[in-house]
Amino acid sequence: MSATRLDGKKIALEIRAEVAQSVQKFVEDGNAAPKLAAVLVGDDPASQVYVRNKERACEKAGIASRLDRMPASTTPAELLARIDELNADPSVNGILVQLPLPQIEGDGPALDEREVLDAIDPLKDVDAFSPVNVGLLMQGRPRFLPCTPHGIVQMLHRCDIETAGKHVVVVGRSEIVGKPMAMMLAQKDSTCGPQTANATVTIAHSRTSNLKEVCLSADILIAAVGRPEMIRGDMIRPGAVVVDVGINRVGDRLVGDVAFDEAAETASAITPVPGGVGPLTIAMLLHNTLLAAKLQSGQ
Ligand code: NAP
Repeated sequence: MSATRLDGKKIALEIRAEVAQSVQKFVEDGNAAPKLAAVLVGDDPASQVYVRNKERACEKAGIASRLDRMPASTTPAELLARIDELNADPSVNGILVQLPLPQIEGDGPALDEREVLDAIDPLKDVDAFSPVNVGLLMQGRPRFLPCTPHGIVQMLHRCDIETAGKHVVVVGRSEIVGKPMAMMLAQKDSTCGPQTANATVTIAHSRTSNLKEVCLSADILIAAVGRPEMIRGDMIRPGAVVVDVGINRVGDRLVGDVAFDEAAETASAITPVPGGVGPLTIAMLLHNTLLAAKLQSGQ
């Protein structure tokens, strides 16, 4: 392996320590500890693990949390009513609804993710999925930034990898990762300054006809596809930086969207899976929860 391993886990711990320090100062200034409310519908085992990890991370950062568990049989009206309650509760600063929502059992009405996410007060939307927050990001005046792409910006900055003037190829155009990632890197500025923005960005997806060629043109390749090891070594330009967002379970292993060993032969730097992008997402959720508390207290 010739590539440098980008240690997302270590950077996430750094960010979490910074957030914990800022939370401490916020409380010392006379404010209540920030509070995150997570809504978990159904009993999907992976979602339970994610929510538990988020609760633990909150606790370590001095952020209060509450978990609203609702059965898989929850109706849209019941879920929307719970979100209204949390929107109206002044002690709750951030709200997240753990995705995916379960498919309704029986003949009842289905839970519509978009409708549910749209119901969250944009000032409490710490996942940054609301159209208001996405619109602000598009216009280059973000309030909350989506956690996974923001974590990647922070990691690139802290690893001294500049994006300004570079060609970034993002493979994947999801609302959660691909699209906001591309948009953030194409902006004139970022939370880490203009050197971690100002990229020339290409978005590739399942209908891209010459994917290998497009990937080979990338100075920085970001894979958010959800297909195990789909990006092979021969799709990477020598010296490119590779960021692997994918988390795919194959047997009892977690693998990324990039064939790590092959890619590490060609790339100059690469994120591992696990221990790369994943831990950064939770760190940025804590950051957003503190930001929400500050915004709601008028700071
Ligand atoms: P998603 O909503 O399923 O989107 C996948 C994207 O990849 C789509 O835009 C799709 O194109 C594109 N795609 C699928 N097959 C392709 C192919 N053969 N060639 C080129 N593009 C292809 O997934 P997501 O939510 O963005 O997640 C992507 C991966 O990241 C998953 O493994 C997920 O578990 C992981 N993830 C990790 C974190 C983290 O914290 N590290 C956070 C979120 C997601 P179309 O639009 O044309 O269908």
